[in-house]
Amino acid sequence: MLGFPLPYRDELLYSTIARHGIHSGIVSPKELLSEVFGDRKILATSDLPSHLKRIAALYPEKIGITPESLLYRNTLFPLYAPFVGEARRLALIRELTANGKSSVHLTSGAAASRIKQPMYLRYCPECIREQLNEHGECYWRRDWQVAGAESCPVHGSLVDSKIRRHNAHRHQFQAADLEVCPLLEQQPGERQSDLLAQSIGELLNLEPRLTPEFSQWTLWYANLAAENGFNRGTQVRHDLVRDKVVGFWGADWLSRYGLLPYDTETNWLKSMFRKHRKAFSYLEHLVVLHAFMEPGWKLADIVDVVSRLELSQKTPTKELKGTGESELSKYRSKWLAAVKEHGTKLARLNGFGDVYAWLYRRDRQWLMETNRSHKAPEPKQQVKVDWHRRDMDTLKTLITLRNVSELRLDDLRRSRNWYLNRLEHKAPIEKHLDLLPLCSLFFDRYCENIFEYQIRRMTRTAIRITRDGEPLKRWQVLRWSGLSEERLTEPASRFLKEVLGI
Ligand SMILES: [Zn+2]
Repeated sequence: MLGFPLPYRDELLYSTIARHGIHSGIVSPKELLSEVFGDRKILATSDLPSHLKRIAALYPEKIGITPESLLYRNTLFPLYAPFVGEARRLALIRELTANGKSSVHLTSGAAASRIKQPMYLRYCPECIREQLNEHGECYWRRDWQVAGAESCPVHGSLVDSKIRRHNAHRHQFQAADLEVCPLLEQQPGERQSDLLAQSIGELLNLEPRLTPEFSQWTLWYANLAAENGFNRGTQVRHDLVRDKVVGFWGADWLSRYGLLPYDTETNWLKSMFRKHRKAFSYLEHLVVLHAFMEPGWKLADIVDVVSRLELSQKTPTKELKGTGESELSKYRSKWLAAVKEHGTKLARLNGFGDVYAWLYRRDRQWLMETNRSHKAPEPKQQVKVDWHRRDMDTLKTLITLRNVSELRLDDLRRSRNWYLNRLEHKAPIEKHLDLLPLCSLFFDRYCENIFEYQIRRMTRTAIRITRDGEPLKRWQVLRWSGLSEERLTEPASRFLKEVLGI
């Protein structure tokens, strides 16, 4: 088999397989299945594909791609992983990586979930445009396919492609291209969607970690209600919880996802604040967390805290009396030190949650007063920047970057962004280019444009083919470079004719 393509960051494996079909000119879906899987009956599943051992084996070992890394980086598995309990998570990993038939859709709750998945594969037109510029081809990103995040946080609303997620052509891997993803104009994204897109991006990129048990999630939400004063003794005030969640998201938005909690004895939100008997979906967790947590919270911190919660620790209810003075002052000074180091919000998430809980139950008034007087400090006064100095220093870095990368044929297009992403002060430099005349000059002169990039990729391909002793063929050079006649720029086309003679 020709080199199986490396997945791009956040690319669905489904998309990588489809690109392989295009790169190697395989037209028949069955033939593609047989080449990749050695089996013509595999279903083309976009969100939770199986047979990952087989795919991982297509790469050279030294690249370090494993079935688990594919599962975590190139499928929607991380949406479910932190919420299903540890035993279930391990069982799912086993099932999805093995080379057998998978029944995961039926068992992971993806099929049975209240949350309706989008019907079509979706895309962000502006990102597609950037992908084409950067790579000369486009691909399906996994964060575009998640219900709740209906927008790209950078460019605006996502658009439905022409490809159904669970379609009639169940064995076909369909690549993203301008035919199925036309470059339509985008509406701005909604506040709720942009917010979720951020935390879904975070969720998808959580590294594999221990998953909390249902009982730990139960305790976490009970504590959350209590810390907000939404309890009467051990009872959760579901009416107050509901007001907070509906107030944050709006009734219209919640009902769009079937998440508006009706005032009945059981609804999903009440169940979330009761004993967890089954897994809740990522969207239900995120809807509650966003409504309750202060801005700036991190999902990774929460999953870690929850997975370390000790079950003997009961929900804080009444303040406990009769605590010894020395113990009290020990806990007080622990908390003060933690607050000085992390601020009140982050102290709890940085290993001092138990100190907080202890004081909350025994010394609540002191705790509240201390926290009020230790609000996170104001951001420091901005240091004045010497722009001339920065211009010179940055230019030196840029020239070094150029010199070391010049002979590397495999880099992405060395655009202005490519350079900027490698700088320490990316954002201020991008924003103040008018104050940086030397850097601006550098960008004007040395950034690679589309045709230069196309020529570089074709050179790389031509070297590879010639080294293997094969004759150069025009269609082959184009395809292996991820290009097509339509996309080829005029100067690149002349390069093919006049320099390579094809
Ligand atoms: Zn975008």
